[in-house]
Amino acid sequence: MSKAYDLIALGGGSAGLASAQRAAEYGARALVIERGYLGGTCVNVGCVPKKVMWHAAELAQAFRDAPDYGFTVDTPQHNWAALVERRETYIRRLNGIYERNLKKRLVDWVSGSARFVDTHTLEVNGEQYTAPNIIIATGGEPIVPETPGAELGITSDGFFALTRQPQRVAVVGSGYIAIELAGVLGGLGSKTELFARKNSVLRSMDEMLQAGAINGLEGHGISVHLNSPVSSVSQAADGLSMTLADGSVTGPFDVLIWAVGRRPLTGDIGLEHTGVTVNEQGYVTVDRYQETNTPGIFALGDVTGQAELTPVAIAAGRRLSDRLFGGMKDRHLDYTNIPTVVFSHPPIATVGLTEAAAREQYGDAAKVYTSGFVPLFYGVCENKGRAEMKLVTTGAEERVIGCHMIGAGSDEILQGFAVAIKMGACKKDLDDTVAIHPTCAEELVTMR
Ligand code: NDP
Repeated sequence: MSKAYDLIALGGGSAGLASAQRAAEYGARALVIERGYLGGTCVNVGCVPKKVMWHAAELAQAFRDAPDYGFTVDTPQHNWAALVERRETYIRRLNGIYERNLKKRLVDWVSGSARFVDTHTLEVNGEQYTAPNIIIATGGEPIVPETPGAELGITSDGFFALTRQPQRVAVVGSGYIAIELAGVLGGLGSKTELFARKNSVLRSMDEMLQAGAINGLEGHGISVHLNSPVSSVSQAADGLSMTLADGSVTGPFDVLIWAVGRRPLTGDIGLEHTGVTVNEQGYVTVDRYQETNTPGIFALGDVTGQAELTPVAIAAGRRLSDRLFGGMKDRHLDYTNIPTVVFSHPPIATVGLTEAAAREQYGDAAKVYTSGFVPLFYGVCENKGRAEMKLVTTGAEERVIGCHMIGAGSDEILQGFAVAIKMGACKKDLDDTVAIHPTCAEELVTMR
């Protein structure tokens, strides 16, 4: 006998939990199926543990700056294992909170791996569950490239499993994860080298941010090797050795981290029984309502490959349930102007069009304002951190279509500006807003 629900979320990460809980708030009978810990990538091996590690690296820098503020600081010792233990305890606490939240909202959850039996039925642990609405929210996993010897390296999952700090680290990649993990390791004192295969990092972002990210890494003692694709990895007596495409050999490293992208997890969920199509990279294709080509089957979050960010998954999931069970017929997520942060040192925050994209789209109508400065904090410090900001506007009314920042506090500053941009703010609206002084944020309302 199968058990019937109104909605089943296949995956208990950000997307699945958000949609199931919102559905239950409308009185729908909802089930979440998850094979690992509740919370998915974000909570367990992504945003949350990463942000804890980022804070640790920021603190390490604060110790280095403290003498300039008159403090006498003995050489601080850092205990990686102790931090990891506290971090994992915190995450297990979050897992418990997620479970209790499901219970509170009367959402059922089953632990196990599910497979589609047909378009309305999933099987898990030998039991069958049916629903007219099934959401594929299985997320993704890090890619290990097919480079010879690649198995000697680890991925971000392996990074979070490290219980001892590696002393010599190679990070291969140039995206969010590469920049963030290199920053944490370098910040906490590991000798860290980053290998990007092309001529920059974060290449989809504004050029100002790309340059700022490289400066930030180098400023924290991390060696950045551009145009350095890896052709093989081998184990030498004193550590891992990498051969680059130009034939040079580099190393030894205690740990090599592949941060070369992620791929969707759709392999073993029985998609062949549903008719659901995936694209060339395996991402489930959906329309603006998150519906696949098979009616009644939806997909949300990283498995769709659209803006792979936790708040996007949550927002799309809630909107889907608003539409299915809350009577909001056209409710869906608008994927434009999504703000995002790279937790580098200093952090990067960005929303909207890059300067290059704006010039391509709007030509001479695009106008750009920039500001680069040393934040007041560093006024008394030997270490001179910098901040760079850019507003991209278009048209006579100078509507703001892009906002890009790198510098201390950018991660917290952007959210409010993203609201203004979503509402169609023009440069004059920013000019008309009184600055808060002395802050970094005030630069955004005083640019000329
Ligand atoms: P990204 O897609 O951000 O970056 C991966 C990059 O690695 C590629 O763009 C490519 O850049 C480079 N690359 C690909 N293959 C190779 C290779 N064989 N050798 C060297 N470099 C290679 O992937 P991530 O895994 O960093 O992150 C996945 C997604 O997760 C992000 O896009 C983001 O959406 C999300 N995320 C968000 C975070 C946040 O919000 N703070 C933090 C972490 C992840 P190039 O073409 O320049 O070589």
